[in-house]
Amino acid sequence: MGERRIVNAIVLRTANYRDNDVILTLFSREQGKLSAAARGAHRARSPLFAAAALFCAGEYDLEEKNGKFSVKSFLPDESFYPLREDARRLSYAAAFAQIAEEIVQPNQPNPDLYDLLLRALAYLAFDEAHEPANVALPFFLRAMAFAGHAPLLTRCAACGGRIVDARFDALAGGVVCARHESRPLPVITGEDMAMLRACLTGPFAPVSGRAQRLCRIAAGFVRAQLERDFDALRLAEDLEDRESAPR
Ligand SMILES: [Zn+2]
Repeated sequence: MGERRIVNAIVLRTANYRDNDVILTLFSREQGKLSAAARGAHRARSPLFAAAALFCAGEYDLEEKNGKFSVKSFLPDESFYPLREDARRLSYAAAFAQIAEEIVQPNQPNPDLYDLLLRALAYLAFDEAHEPANVALPFFLRAMAFAGHAPLLTRCAACGGRIVDARFDALAGGVVCARHESRPLPVITGEDMAMLRACLTGPFAPVSGRAQRLCRIAAGFVRAQLERDFDALRLAEDLEDRESAPR
């Protein structure tokens, strides 16, 4: 018998292996990232079927043997089912999971990021009143803050002074004065600045107003700071472009 432990976790990724088994990449609130095998999860009427679905969140009872985890039982909390019915929302959810997977490390709990991901998935799944970009913009900015890359918004990321004629420089880490611009950078108006700051103020919630443009800028910030692209994020942006294209 291996050692048992119970964690609260979200499924960030699934990989099938053999006929019915699934390897889960879990974001656990208590232990950070870990992989666990859900044996027989794809067998008909398997008690682990729900435990092995992407974005599924709940209590995982894990057994550890020789440093490897397997799921013994599972108490579901939320499956975010409506995400499966909307390609755009689903692609944002997958982007959130990929970004969280990049940030969280094994044995390094990040409960703030965990709670943020749960809330962001809930808004994407259940809050039809807000566009996905209005959820994604605050998610991106806050996730980066929890990753140690909080965007600089109150002073210039280049000269450290008061911002004059603002631009957003993803590589510099936030808002800069126009005079530092050595390549074309997006203009940040006073209204944009207010929206960016609102995203980081108070408890996490979708931001109000038209968020698409700033969401694109924030996604560029995530890519620049984490130094990689995310295929689900590219898909989400393609679907946004199609949604807004004239028909
Ligand atoms: Zn400056």
